[in-house]
Amino acid sequence: MIIGIDDTDSNEGMCTTYLGALLLEELQEYGTMEALPLLVRLNPTIPYKTRGNAAVALKLKTDWPEKVIAHVTSRIEELARMECEKTNPGAVFIQEKDYESLKLVLLSFLEKAVKDVVEIETAKHLISELGISSKSFKNGRGLIGALAACGAMLNPEKWDCTFEHLAYRRKENWGSLRDVNKESFFEADRQTYPGTWDTVDLANRLVVCVPHSADPVLFGIRGESPELVDKAAALIQAEPVERSAVYRTNQGTDMHLLPAACISEIRDMHSYRLEGTVSAAPKTIEGGHVIFAVRDRKGDEIDCAAFEPTKNFRVLVRKLVPGDQIILSGSVTSGTLNIEKIQITALAPLYGEENPKCPECGKHMKSAGQGQGFRCKKCGTQALSKVRCEAERDLEPGIYEVPPCARRHLAKPLARERCQNIRIYPSR
Ligand code: ATP
Repeated sequence: MIIGIDDTDSNEGMCTTYLGALLLEELQEYGTMEALPLLVRLNPTIPYKTRGNAAVALKLKTDWPEKVIAHVTSRIEELARMECEKTNPGAVFIQEKDYESLKLVLLSFLEKAVKDVVEIETAKHLISELGISSKSFKNGRGLIGALAACGAMLNPEKWDCTFEHLAYRRKENWGSLRDVNKESFFEADRQTYPGTWDTVDLANRLVVCVPHSADPVLFGIRGESPELVDKAAALIQAEPVERSAVYRTNQGTDMHLLPAACISEIRDMHSYRLEGTVSAAPKTIEGGHVIFAVRDRKGDEIDCAAFEPTKNFRVLVRKLVPGDQIILSGSVTSGTLNIEKIQITALAPLYGEENPKCPECGKHMKSAGQGQGFRCKKCGTQALSKVRCEAERDLEPGIYEVPPCARRHLAKPLARERCQNIRIYPSR
């Protein structure tokens, strides 16, 4: 049986992955787990999300499906933060006999939930049309994520994956400051990067894998394999852990990106890979956000932003000039593309002015005094004004990303890129 669950948490506590980790242990009473638990990240622009728009799925070999459904339902009732308006839990149960017939339809549902906006009615309609068992609470919006997570579990070979070791706090510590040895995270990163990533942010000297909210997560180490995330987690020194789980995930895969052929097809609440030319120089606006315009081949334009939380990434963005050719990845909200990565494919020539060169000796002339033009002292040659020259660009073609502290869960870190012939910045 595949069990998909979503929308059990609120900003004040809980986390659907924690419920997943509890069930991973508790459901052993009814059978055996057949795969690693799944943590899927869905459309990052969805306003209903609490934090990272995550849903989970478990795969259990069992002869007691009714008992499993009853157990999962009662745990959701006990643990979900029902008092929160935004918490609308949903759980979906797929019987083994239906795996084949539901595989493709739920794969396309997963794709839609990651890249597009899904109505609750669409999920409910699919559930009744396909005869899927489900439980929903309040408006049942969690059914969307629960169905999508089942789609991911049914099709593990159809999507790129990474892994996350999630360590959970003891209940008595929930809500208090997390007691962690920061240096141990830097050491874990030193020993396992690039097999693991986003444990720390070296440039900003931050530990980024420890949340600050009241949820039960102590830390989460992301990486390329279960062995690597476990190796890094074993190096962490921190308060005692209640339990931990390694999830298979679609984090760090760019699964949310749609190819945008042109700007006119771009819609809010979707994420894209867009090719274009810088058409207006970057401006820093109130709050420290850096905005510039990009134009496509048809002449349409879109505003692109490196917001303040992207920190040092904005230094790079400010160096762009009109005419630079770029490929951007990012999500669009309120008509602005929020940049996750930028590939600079060609730099526009930048012109400045310099003192003219002496036609005799080839050296730069010196000013002959205010309003008196320029003169070569050695040869006596003269010129009236400065001349246009090509200025050096303090920027290299290559691919650049926001720092780990500003990374979207789904954005593929450059540590995972195996691209050739493209320089990657910042390099480590
Ligand atoms: P956390 O990740 O911290 O556990 P969360 O950020 O996952 O919390 P949820 O509480 O799961 O937030 O809320 C997200 C809600 O949005 C869920 O009900 C989910 O079903 C729904 N949802 C997910 N993807 C889409 C989508 N593409 N279109 C519409 N609704 C969606």
